[in-house]
Order: sequence, then structure tokens, then C-alpha cells
Amino acid sequence: MGVKVAKFGGSSLADAGQFLKVRDILALDEDRCMVVPSAPGKRNYTDVKITDMLYECARRASSGKDLDELLGQIATRYKEIADELGVSFPFDEEFEEIKKEILLGAGEAYAASRGEYLNGRLLAAFLGWTFVDAKDVIFFSEGDRLDSEKTQQMLSERLKGKRNVVVPGFYGSDAHGNIRTFSRGGSDITGALVARAVDADVYENWTDVSGCMMADPRIVRNPEVIRSITYRELRELSYMGASVLHEDALFPVRIAGIPTNIRNTNQPEEPGTMICYEAEDDESKYPITGIAGHKDFAIINIEKTMMNSEIGFGRRVLQAVEEQGISFEHMPSGIDTMCVVVHEDSLIGKKEKLVARIYELCEPDSVEIHSGLALIATVGRGMVRAKGTSANLFNALAKAGINVRLIDQGSSEFNIIVGVDNLDFENAVRAIYRAFVQKR
Ligand code: ASP
Repeated sequence: MGVKVAKFGGSSLADAGQFLKVRDILALDEDRCMVVPSAPGKRNYTDVKITDMLYECARRASSGKDLDELLGQIATRYKEIADELGVSFPFDEEFEEIKKEILLGAGEAYAASRGEYLNGRLLAAFLGWTFVDAKDVIFFSEGDRLDSEKTQQMLSERLKGKRNVVVPGFYGSDAHGNIRTFSRGGSDITGALVARAVDADVYENWTDVSGCMMADPRIVRNPEVIRSITYRELRELSYMGASVLHEDALFPVRIAGIPTNIRNTNQPEEPGTMICYEAEDDESKYPITGIAGHKDFAIINIEKTMMNSEIGFGRRVLQAVEEQGISFEHMPSGIDTMCVVVHEDSLIGKKEKLVARIYELCEPDSVEIHSGLALIATVGRGMVRAKGTSANLFNALAKAGINVRLIDQGSSEFNIIVGVDNLDFENAVRAIYRAFVQKR
């Protein structure tokens, strides 16, 4: 018998109807024997996520405001789900305890974690499965960093050989027993950690879309779903703004060689996106796997004649950047020019100091900062050694009348990054998508 870990996101557990879908999905495959739930999410566009309501409770408590009304609304949402499912659950005691702890100053992590805790307990009661509290198996060290070793050890000790277990997502505890959480969307990480600990055959991440899209659906209408993608490709796309999974959820499963399958709770018959260490289908339909990007980068352009023969020039430029606490994204260079691409935001209040320091350390002929740059990454294992991919890409941009301000292609050859004006961003993404996907 195999083991599959199924993580269900907030929209997959937003109301009783969604709980029923989850039960049916689990019943379809008995290998799905470990479940990681999020807190109930939005039921419609105007709804508020339970996690956001709980953060608000913590804020109210810290400014001495009353909690009863808000906690009452949260309790009602859980009670409605339980009543519709016919599950009896001691909500009143639970909420009394939660209120007491929040008023005693348990903090926002504790408050936020109760969304997953209660949903986990409710789901376990509904399914008749065992509940394992994440505070006993997921551990954080100082600074809210995951204690990966202890977590791996405790999780595998508690879960080894067990079936039909619910571990709530998003939180754990620190060395003093205080509740800690991952950053928002962190139940994905819990799912990945559970999958690694039980050496799952697959980590299923159930959400409300049928997988990762080839491009942002807010820019390209009905983009195709990516059927198969490698962890490396997904990492490049997520880094450039594609958001499907929490970024930190990729590492535990990737190291353990466990594939991740993004699935749609509302359309369980769809295969979703399979993320693997190495893709099985090397004849993927298109030479590219996906396009992602975002706006608001700035280029620091440094010119100095004969810069190429000056040893340590690049190090000194980066020293100036580092001294200002700025992280850089890319560094395309010419013969006598060097460019450092950074997020525009990171320069706020630091521009003058940075430029002055570059002059001091590097004695360049000129330093200029240009903002309003958007970066677009076109990623695909199919591009490696494929001839004509970049010609196709740049032709498409030229035909769309878009000026390319920057080009960066790593030697891995599976990611071509172009920089365009912020204003051209959406058109550029559409032009690239059309060139590789729609025209075929
Ligand atoms: N409930 C948390 C959030 O809204 C964690 C999660 O859903 O993954 O961010």
C-alpha cells in the first residue's frame, strides 16, 4: 500500500460542501492517508478568511479592544460547518480557551494558528481519523526558522506506520513551547514536511485551480495548464512571480525526490500539474513551460573605461550594494559597463548614499539609475539546446513593438529573462505566450 499526503487549502475547506468534496477525494484512493488542512478560506469574493479574522483578534487584544463579537463570528463559521456535517464538537470550550490565551498575550502566531488547529480537529472528527497537533511535531528555532532536523525526527516518529492522520498546517512550536507559524500560505510547507517525513509517493496539494498556468490568467486569457514541470523550472517561475505553492514548500519534497501534484478540489478528475525532480515527458507540447514576471525593478548602470581589466571591480560594486542592505536580482554586464538590477522599493531612501559609495569604491566614469523596469522570465527545459527559441521570443517582442531594455540568459539555457518598460509588461507577456503557445 502506498502513501500519499494530501494538503487541502483554505478554499477547499471553506464550508460544509467543500468538506464533503474532500471526504470524497480521500475515499477515491486509500493511499491518501495523511491530510494537512488549512483554515477555512473565502466562500466567495467578499468573504474574509478565518486566518485574517484571527490576526484581527490579536490586533484588537493588543489595543485593549473587545474580542467577543469577532470571536463569535469565527465560532459561527465553524459551528455552521459542523452542524451541516452532523459532527459534534466542543466549540464553546475551545473558544473560551482561545479567548483566555489571546487576552493573556499569547500573541498573533497563537491566534492565527487556531484557524488550522480547529479545522484540523473538525476534519479529523468528521472523517473519524486521528488528529496529531502540529505543535508536537513541527518545530521552530530562534527567529521563526524551521528546525528542520527536529521536525523531521519527530514527524517521522509520530507518523511512521500510521494511516488516516490529520496534521493541521501552518504552525508548530518553539523550544519554549510557544506557538510559531510559517509565513502566510505556510500550510503548503507543513504538507511538504509531512510528505518528506513519511517518505510519501506523492505530495498532493489540493487547491481551487487545476494546476500551474503557463502564464498569469490576469494577463493572458485562459492560459493552458502546465501538465508537467521540474522543481527547477517551478523555482524560476515562482521567483519571478508565479504563485501556486509557498516557495519554501518546494525544498523538502525536492530533496527527498517526492513529486508534488497540484490538484483542483472542485475538479478532482483533472490531472493537475505534476512537479518532478526530472520531467518524464521530454516531448512536452511546447518548447517553453511557462512565463512569469513582475514590474518595478531598477537598473543601476555603471560605466568605466577599461573596467574589464580591473580586478575586483565587480566585488566593489556589490560591496556598495551590500553595505546599503540591498539584495540584487541580476547583473548583466558589457565590456565597460556593469548593470545591477534591484527591486525599486529597495532603493527608497538609499539612492544617494548608494551612488556616492559606488563613486568612492569604484571611481567609475558614470553611475545612473533607471527605474520602471519589468522583468519577464520565459522558462522551459524544452529550450535547452533547442534552436530558434530566442529568435522566436525576440521576434514576437519586435512584432509587438516592444523595446527590450535588458537580456539575461543563464548558461543553464532554460530561462531567458528580458527587461522591458513597466508599460509594456502585459503586452510583452501576451506576445511571448502567443508566439509559443497559441500559434501552434
Ligand atoms: N491559513 C494560513 C493563511 O491564510 C495558512 C495557509 O492557508 O496556508 O495564510
